Amino acid sequence: MAQFNNLMEIFKLLDKSNCKKCNLPTCMAFAAAVFKGQKQLSDCPLLDSEIIKSHEGQSTHKNPLEQQADEFGANLKRKISAIDLASAAQRLCAQFEDNKLTIKCLGKKIGVDGQGNITTDIHVHSWLTTPVIDYVVNSSETPVSGQWVPFRELEGGKTWYRLFGQMCEKPLKKVADNYTGLFADMLELFNGKQVENHYDSDISLVLHPLPKVPLLICYWHPEDGLESDLTLFFDSTAEDNLSIESIYTLGVGLTIMFEKITLRHRQ
Ligand code: SF4
Repeated sequence: MAQFNNLMEIFKLLDKSNCKKCNLPTCMAFAAAVFKGQKQLSDCPLLDSEIIKSHEGQSTHKNPLEQQADEFGANLKRKISAIDLASAAQRLCAQFEDNKLTIKCLGKKIGVDGQGNITTDIHVHSWLTTPVIDYVVNSSETPVSGQWVPFRELEGGKTWYRLFGQMCEKPLKKVADNYTGLFADMLELFNGKQVENHYDSDISLVLHPLPKVPLLICYWHPEDGLESDLTLFFDSTAEDNLSIESIYTLGVGLTIMFEKITLRHRQ
């Protein structure tokens, strides 16, 4: 399908009430985010479902790193057919049954077959699909080390960390600042584990988006004129078990999911 040629084409579709329910200050800012590929039309709760449907798949201007990630996902789907899923189960900390792997993602069971098809009882977010297949194809025998490092200290994180800060840590901090139930949701809905506070943070919580790719979220409340802060840490072995593209996608995908949960609580 054709691309949007400019952001006014997107803006014309919107309600123009600047209601902020999309977590952006104006409809114009939202149109710009859609044009850059950072938001989807469906992120505006006021937009008619017929309009969303008629523009579904209409491509937007993605940045080169995001385009790279799309191509990467297509390559992975081709590679999974060469994997012996039965013998891969142990390496992946997964179960093999009925010709498919069952992998725990955020406490939920996700099935993966030899063609890269994903099955689950829950709604599968598109941001989870590529990392799951990447994990099946590329995860090594390396066990989790228990040593936490920030995204920028991962080998491939040097290229991606600015974008990761903008697209993941900054908006997630905003969610934590404005929605006090965020960490309780992480514990209850996504099998999070509160851990001993790391790096003098006020809250330290571990999630497992994939069995061998845990992430530690540390949050510091605002205090004495200092702003709050939030940092995501990954296991030092993360890149042995998942590519940096997929680690980035997981972080940003989780953030978007939590933004949507917050939005539902406000309505
Ligand atoms: S939610 Fe929709 S109508 Fe409201 S500000 Fe965002 S784009 Fe505009």
